[in-house]
Amino acid sequence: QQAIFETFSKKQAVMSDGTRIITAVNIGNAKDAEIGAAQGAEAVGLMRTELLFLSGDAAPTEEEQFAEYKKIAETFAGSEPGDVIIRTLDIGGDKEVQYLDIPKEENPFLGYRAIRLCLDRKDLFLTQLRALLRASAFGKLKIMFPMISGYQEVLDAKAVLAEAKAQLDVEQVVYDRDIKVGVMIEVPSAALMADVLAEKVDFFSIGTNDLVQYSLAVDRGNRKIAYLYDYFNPAVIRLIRQVAKAAKPRNVLVGMCGGMAGDPLAVPLLVGLGLDELSMAAGAIPQTKYILSKVDLATCQALAASVADCKTPQEVRVIVTAFAEKYG
Ligand code: PEP
Ligand code: MG
Repeated sequence: QQAIFETFSKKQAVMSDGTRIITAVNIGNAKDAEIGAAQGAEAVGLMRTELLFLSGDAAPTEEEQFAEYKKIAETFAGSEPGDVIIRTLDIGGDKEVQYLDIPKEENPFLGYRAIRLCLDRKDLFLTQLRALLRASAFGKLKIMFPMISGYQEVLDAKAVLAEAKAQLDVEQVVYDRDIKVGVMIEVPSAALMADVLAEKVDFFSIGTNDLVQYSLAVDRGNRKIAYLYDYFNPAVIRLIRQVAKAAKPRNVLVGMCGGMAGDPLAVPLLVGLGLDELSMAAGAIPQTKYILSKVDLATCQALAASVADCKTPQEVRVIVTAFAEKYG
């Protein structure tokens, strides 16, 4: 079957009724971008920039970051659609950085991290945004903010972006003036306020790795309670449905870059819930395209409707597994 999947790496991700779903890759650096492109990724749905910050004993310079982002933008510049979503720094929580001197916290996952840290450390944030803007002249870059928990944070992050743009204007440096800006939906409050956040952004990307952790109050790394950590939990599915519903009328593109997006059992359900883009590890792309080619949108929407009354993750799993057996 692997051989069949591989023939799909060269094809566009199209459902049997012609509906296009963007099949994108999650990456950590420029090398991963090439691997993703070779597996048939049509875009980059998430570049985790943490890797750049975790590998040295100081933060990467604007030039170092610019060089990496530029390479990735160029790798996908000729692809369709070829958008490259780069996420601004998401450290803290499980991702520690020695040189930043973040004080030990009782609850690091609920603490000083990601956009919270960036809005506080404007030096770091401005440097990264300048590097991203400069790289946007070489491809179809989009900027995404992680761990957004409310409206004001979106406004504040966009204000720093405007400041970076103003600096580059003064220096007469070129960048994409229409660069698209989006947010991760990975905190329940953001999912619940998606209609409001949609007024200020071009796209959402649902991060199930954290959304599951925060909505179910289940530490994503704790093995003892791993049985509770399930993205097929009906509460999580309600949140996903709500986000897609809030985004559609406002023309906000909705993707998913958490682990759920690359799960063959989840793909038809996610499409049925209204997602436009699925972003995953490179290895999952050919199989995802294969699955999409086997199903049509109306059937997936019926599947999504049929799980709406499920009371437990197990009930959802029974339904999506039966669906996969029928169509896979
Ligand atoms: C997520 O939370 O789903 C996500 C994609 O981000 P990360 O795994 O980097 O926290
Ligand atoms: Mg996350």
